[in-house]
Amino acid sequence: MPSTTRSVIHWFRRDLRITDNTSLIESGHHGLPVVPVYVISSWQKSHAWTGPNRQHFLCGSLASLDANLKTIGSRLIIREGKAVEALRNLIIETGAIALHFNLDPDPFGKSVEAAVRQMCHELGVSCHAHLDHTLHGPGEVLTQGGLPYRVYTPYSKNWLTLPKSKPLPKPANLQTPPSISSLPLPTVKHWGWEIPTTSLPEPGERAARDRLKQAIAGKIQHYAARRDLPALDATSRISQDLRYGLISIRSIYANTLKARSEADNAGKAGIDVFIKELAWREFYFAILHHFPNVLEEEFNADWRGLPWDQPGKSFDAWKQGRTGFPLVDAGMRELAASGFMHNRLRMITAMFLTKDLHLDWKLGESWFMQQLVDGEIASNNGGWQWSAGTGADAAPYFRIQNPWSQTAKHDPEGIYIKRWIPELEKVHPSRFLEPPKDGRPIAPGYPLPCVDHKTERDRTLAIFKKHRESNPKKS
Ligand SMILES: Cc1cc2nc3c(=O)[nH]c(=O)nc-3n(C[C@H](O)[C@H](O)[C@H](O)COP(=O)(O)OP(=O)(O)OC[C@H]3O[C@@H](n4cnc5c(N)ncnc54)[C@H](O)[C@@H]3O)c2cc1C
Repeated sequence: MPSTTRSVIHWFRRDLRITDNTSLIESGHHGLPVVPVYVISSWQKSHAWTGPNRQHFLCGSLASLDANLKTIGSRLIIREGKAVEALRNLIIETGAIALHFNLDPDPFGKSVEAAVRQMCHELGVSCHAHLDHTLHGPGEVLTQGGLPYRVYTPYSKNWLTLPKSKPLPKPANLQTPPSISSLPLPTVKHWGWEIPTTSLPEPGERAARDRLKQAIAGKIQHYAARRDLPALDATSRISQDLRYGLISIRSIYANTLKARSEADNAGKAGIDVFIKELAWREFYFAILHHFPNVLEEEFNADWRGLPWDQPGKSFDAWKQGRTGFPLVDAGMRELAASGFMHNRLRMITAMFLTKDLHLDWKLGESWFMQQLVDGEIASNNGGWQWSAGTGADAAPYFRIQNPWSQTAKHDPEGIYIKRWIPELEKVHPSRFLEPPKDGRPIAPGYPLPCVDHKTERDRTLAIFKKHRESNPKKS
């Protein structure tokens, strides 16, 4: 039944917070009731790019968002199905004169936005899209010639010099008409899944703010020295909060700069490295924006058509954390148990899949997206292509990490390994630094290494070299 009252819709997407939310704030400026809506997808059971961990975290964050909206006089309206249809119905139902949303950096999100804009145009409703998910849009950080960067360092130098927006407070009050119907808040059962048994971070805006506070209170000052030691809790752990917009990138940046201004020189140096990671995140969003083909093929054209092996038992062993390489297995088991993996381990496990097992990076990319609670298409693709040696500013193909010497460097006492592989608890850490010399498993029930690293390294070098020789340089 069409309504006679007028309203404005704010469409929540990956901005599940009320504080410093550009679109939510703007939707309140019309002086009309605001209808905050989230449209849940209706696919069932399996999805190549997501899984129960991330959807469970999403559900918790939606519940928390609803509670937060209630504190300012509003509530979350849940609708289901294709966003364009659900929004069209809501516009007609509520007599909305405007629709606001924050831009999504992913290609799928962008295609939905195009359809939503067209629908608003047809209904004569004004449509407002806001940049919110990054400090700078992809069109803002360009070379002097106006072209996108293909390499991180010049991108980040430019990114660092650009003025950045400051965070805004949450709206004091938001009136939402009581008559608008809503579906119940979803659980993962909506997608046909059981609640995951993994130990996931607490969802919601307040929990995200607490994680940031903890990071600002000490971790980021020591970030340069400790971020590569996975046994320590030394990184910010805010990636899922950025993924779902539980805290704004502007708040993170402003708080980081404040901490920097109060830090000693060593602390400042640590914080500078942390800020550069925030720039990496935006670099990968820019790559995905300017080169969306990276989701289908190698960024570096020279490496398109590489002959990957067929996935078989070794792929299963990798997924299960049973390759017989303790550090690789610890990373994969951290992922299975917590929906998170330390960055250093993401690099090591990704390089192992591509360079030791000779499997296509796209297999690992999809597996990570299904498991990671912070699964972010741009960063994940960037990380995988970096590790495979095929991406923008990637590790050169011949720089292949040795999982044994990586252990000596990043987990010499085996603390991280033992945390995630209980059957290795009693094994002396020196046994994690090289393959077993006696050819016997290092602990009962733990497998022997599934490959010989040196042999596979040589094979990778030969494959890449042959590919380059038989394909004229394209990039
Ligand atoms: C193969 C591979 C896959 C990855 N997949 C993802 C993913 O799906 N989602 C994701 O958010 N990150 C991904 N990363 C990047 C990185 O591993 C995570 O952002 C980081 O481990 C998250 O932990 P943190 O929040 O404690 O990070 P911190 O080290 O505290 O860094 C702070 C923030 O900076 C950003 N950041 C840090 N490192 C990177 C990086 N290398 N690239 C892009 N952004 C970065 C993240 O937003 C992160 O939360 C991937 C890296 C690799 C090598």
